[in-house]
Amino acid sequence: MRRFAIYPGSFDPITKGHEDIVHRALTFMEGIVIAVAHRATHEKRGLFSIDERVELIREVFRDEPRVEVTAFTGLLVDFARRRGTNLVVRGLRAVSDFEYEFQMALMNRKLYPELETIFLAPDVRYSFLSASLVREIAALGGDVSEFVSPTVKDRLEAKYRELAR
Ligand code: ADP
Repeated sequence: MRRFAIYPGSFDPITKGHEDIVHRALTFMEGIVIAVAHRATHEKRGLFSIDERVELIREVFRDEPRVEVTAFTGLLVDFARRRGTNLVVRGLRAVSDFEYEFQMALMNRKLYPELETIFLAPDVRYSFLSASLVREIAALGGDVSEFVSPTVKDRLEAKYRELAR
């Protein structure tokens, strides 16, 4: 069986920190399914729609056939079961991520006993990076080129121009 993992998140938008985690995971996995979590109650708070996020991630990984991008609703464990894998990848930036991630991993395992969560640490350049910080910098007219791919930067700038109108 092909060994692949699911990398779930909100990816609003995908950052170089997320990209770094995917590249690291691909050094020992045959494929990664990037799964954009769609929670109806949370959507209003997002900047990009779920479809836009999926489209942006596809664009970023257009030359990487081992990456599949999709949206999902409902429980991650149900999605993982449906897709036929028991592996989930998550990034750990700092100790502050740990408590939440650990709690999630153990709860997910409770719901799906074979589920394993693999934690990967990003390059230190990205250990302080979050999508919310990137949104904030872009909203205030700052330069985010160090933190996101060029295509994401363009879309962020266009989005804030659109919102300012
Ligand atoms: P964010 O916290 O940036 O909104 P998500 O909710 O989309 O990110 O997170 C999805 C996963 O990616 C989580 O496991 C999160 O810890 C991880 N992640 C987010 N940003 C980074 C980063 N800069 N480096 C490593 N992992 C990251």
